[in-house]
Parts: sequence; structure tokens; C-alpha cells
Amino acid sequence: MKIQIMTDLEGPSGTNGRSDGIGNKTVNLPIACQVLTEEVNACVEGLIAGGATQIVVWDGHGGSNSIDITKLHPAAELGTIGGDLYPVMFIDASYDAAIQLGAHALQGVPDGYMNHTFNSHGVANMWLNGERIGEIGIGIWLAAYFRVPTMLVSGDDAACREAHACLPAGVATVSTKHGLSRYTVINRNPVAVRADLRATAEQALRNLAASKPKPLPDTFALTVQLMCPNSADIWERRGAERLDHMTVRICGADLVDVWSQYSGWAPGVHNRKFGVSPDLNRR
Ligand SMILES: [Zn+2]
Repeated sequence: MKIQIMTDLEGPSGTNGRSDGIGNKTVNLPIACQVLTEEVNACVEGLIAGGATQIVVWDGHGGSNSIDITKLHPAAELGTIGGDLYPVMFIDASYDAAIQLGAHALQGVPDGYMNHTFNSHGVANMWLNGERIGEIGIGIWLAAYFRVPTMLVSGDDAACREAHACLPAGVATVSTKHGLSRYTVINRNPVAVRADLRATAEQALRNLAASKPKPLPDTFALTVQLMCPNSADIWERRGAERLDHMTVRICGADLVDVWSQYSGWAPGVHNRKFGVSPDLNRR
């Protein structure tokens, strides 16, 4: 069984965040990276016990510099993301399950530690087909495009809540901490978090048949409210529909094509270049 693990750096136990004026900065980067790597390794241990044969970890935090490969569990491979030319989904139909570790809540969730939506200086709100969505939800939808179920999400309480809201049919979650505000938090002890990740990952993989990909509609509408109207101008010039001074919308029948336009791809180009198409017959 082949498993994808997507990581982020705001959600492990012990990441120490502050405001940089508008968005977030991490003030204990080496420790945050170490704790994340150890949480990933605990998850990998559980997956192997549960029968995983291939595990690809994607270092998903900006810059892909949060996982020390020399400390990574020997059973896992590491994906890092760089440059302007890469597929925007980091998953395909060869995977049996997807996992998100170190996740965080979407921008504006009061108890979401270091909450933001992709760009803590740029995006005020995002909706997919009317559903308010952040990074956790986008990851779940992109996996579902290939009929891959997201079976486990870890992060603070707000991140776990968001995963359950996006996957009401069921997803395993491991809470790493209890956010009191955007920058105040009670961290669970990392030893306890690792034990939970190990046990929950194994259990989730053994119960994989119970994990279902999110059901996908036939058409997609991604609405983005920017923090700055200048950004909306750029989107409009690229072809997005302008809903108001701050808000733009991209519509289409292919989720990955729609999502690629968030990263600046012209319609159709990303999927043509990388040969992307949905796997609708898999399950
Ligand atoms: Zn993030």
C-alpha cells in the first residue's frame, strides 16, 4: 500500500508562532522542524505496522525546508517543492491513502493556532463550491480527485475540527495542541502526540476500507477574497471573474485545472503539461 503524507509546520506540537504584522512567523524554527520530523516518523512507524509498503512524505511548508532528511524514518521518501514548474497536487491515482500532518485551520478561525489560508499576507477567505475552505480542505479535495481517501489529519483542535467538517463520513484525527488564540496555545506533550500518531496511523490503515474519498461534484467554483485589491487586479488580468473589488472566482469542470489557476497557471496548461486527469472509475 502506497501512502502520501503532506506536512505543514504550523500544526506540530511546539511550533512557536508570532505575528509579523499581518501574517505569521515561526520563532523557533529548528525546534518546530525537529518536532515535525519526529511526528512524521511516528506516523510512518504506525503505517508500516499497518501494512504500508511505500510512503512518500511531501515537505509542504513554504520553501520545503522543514524536514531534515537525515532524521527521516528510513522507510519513507521525501518530496520537496521548488521553482515555478511543478504539479500542484502532489498526489496521483497510484496512492491508496493520503495523510496530512502538522496541519492548521483556515484564515480567521479564532482558536486556530497560526491560522491562515495558503498565504497569510494575501488571502482573506476562500470558498470551493460555497464551502469555506483552507489548506486541509483543498488537500482532501485534491486527493478525492484521484479517488484517494484522506484517512488521517493531525494539527491543533481547530485543524482536527476542520478535517471532520470536510469529511463528515469519517476521518481519523490526532490533536497536537489546544489553541487559545492565533498565537497562544497549550501544546500536548510531543511524546504523547507521537504515541497517538503511531497508534492512529496503524489503526486507520487497517480500517482503510472505511475511509472514503470526498464525493466530488461535476463542476467547481473557487472563490478567493484577497486581502489587497491589487492582487485581485492581477487575477482579473489572468482571466478570473471579478466578483467585487477584493474577490475573484475561477470556474471549471476539472478541479485540478481550477486549482492550478490559484498558482498562476493559465486554464488548461497545467493538466496538459503534466498529463493530469481524474480517476473516476477507481472505487
Ligand atoms: Zn499551511
